[in-house]
Amino acid sequence: MNVGVIGTGYVGLVAGACFAETGNDVVCADVDVAKIDGLRRNVLPIYEPGLEALVERNQAEGRLRFTTDLAEAIAQVEVVFIAVGTPPDEDGSADLRHVLAVAETIGRYAERAIVVVTKSTVPVGTAAKVRAAVARHARVPFHVCANPEFLKEGAAIDDFLKPDRVVVGTDHEDARRVMNELYAPFLRTGKPIIHMDIASAEMTKYAANAMLATRISFMNEMANLCDAVGADVDAVRRGIGSDSRIGSSFLFPGPGYGGSCFPKDVQALLRTATEAGAALEVVAAVERANAQQKLASVSRVRAALGGRLEGRRVAIWGLAFKANTDDMRESPALTVIDELLRGGASVIAHDPEAIPEAQRRLGTRIDYAEAMYDAVDGADALVVLTDWNVYRNPDFARIRRVMRAAVLVDLRNLYDPARLVALGFHYTSVGRPAPEGP
Ligand code: NAD
Repeated sequence: MNVGVIGTGYVGLVAGACFAETGNDVVCADVDVAKIDGLRRNVLPIYEPGLEALVERNQAEGRLRFTTDLAEAIAQVEVVFIAVGTPPDEDGSADLRHVLAVAETIGRYAERAIVVVTKSTVPVGTAAKVRAAVARHARVPFHVCANPEFLKEGAAIDDFLKPDRVVVGTDHEDARRVMNELYAPFLRTGKPIIHMDIASAEMTKYAANAMLATRISFMNEMANLCDAVGADVDAVRRGIGSDSRIGSSFLFPGPGYGGSCFPKDVQALLRTATEAGAALEVVAAVERANAQQKLASVSRVRAALGGRLEGRRVAIWGLAFKANTDDMRESPALTVIDELLRGGASVIAHDPEAIPEAQRRLGTRIDYAEAMYDAVDGADALVVLTDWNVYRNPDFARIRRVMRAAVLVDLRNLYDPARLVALGFHYTSVGRPAPEGP
């Protein structure tokens, strides 16, 4: 099938590469000239495991092309995906400017019957706006379709090639047929393609992200309570996660959720609810609890340093909002670093992939370490903020030797409290009591 993808960020690039991988002819377009120039030379704008090989192979074999000419990705394709960003507007609602601009462009350049698929995360009612925008200039028949994306950064290729399910909102059989055909190779193991009306498909994406964010905020609050009453959230997590009605994923407490999706999607859903006159008390509390959790992380560091940040040297392991990505959008690390600097501490950070992104955002406000052990050299505290694999089993003796004070604040609960205390660390984690030191 001839497929167009507009927007080559995390979602568009992964979708384009995966559709090419299953034999389709895919043209990916973006307004970012540098990004497209790089992609043509197989230089990827993001870190995503497995993506580079996929782009290189499919480009070499001629199934995947990159262009800044949107018309090229529209004119002759049977289906075009809109995968541009939907950042939060000032009032928290999703900013649809890019989506609707692309929809107008599609109307202008489509030369054959086309299915216009919204893959960006968009509020209920957007498909109707997309339809109107395409129709403004369209000279060919078209259908609109909502096909929200559920991939996780860091495991995006796997999620796309082997999805738990594909959600498709349509109002016409032709669009349903095209989507069935396109997704069939990814669903051979029996995972479902769930067809529904367009509004429900749009809503499903927000409901999924709000539910996941709720689990995180819920567990963060449980962990804080465990800290206050001397219980161990790890035991509680295992105790509730084994209940099949609850399930074990997304029950890990930490420094608060971040990334490009949960914060903005929770906000946008709240905005939709306000506009619809419906109360979303739970979701509103989830957002408040998350902001609080980021600040609670700073409090944990301050307390571990005896209440004083002024003049302290703090090493940070992990800047990305989660492991296996270089994405720092809304990363808890940004809040923690801001507050540490405000309190008069100096910061040196290590991250396996996100240093270039951190340098763009933070410039010279902090120092950067190329190797993880360089960061802790002479530090008064080590704060672990991202659960990268390389941080899971470090050489603690070496860390102790080079640190000025053996203070470790583990905001991802990566280490065993008893072991760390036995090794002589002043150890703090989230919701797990540490035994008394020797
Ligand atoms: P991104 O910011 O990484 O990429 C968006 C791309 O669109 C950029 O390359 C930008 O240059 C391009 N763009 C913007 N306006 C354009 C225009 N008018 N014409 C052509 N290109 C244009 O964004 P992303 O993370 O890929 O997210 C895209 C959408 O998918 C968002 O709605 C997001 O909420 C949703 N989503 C993201 C994820 C994720 O994990 N990142 C997961 C599921 C859904």
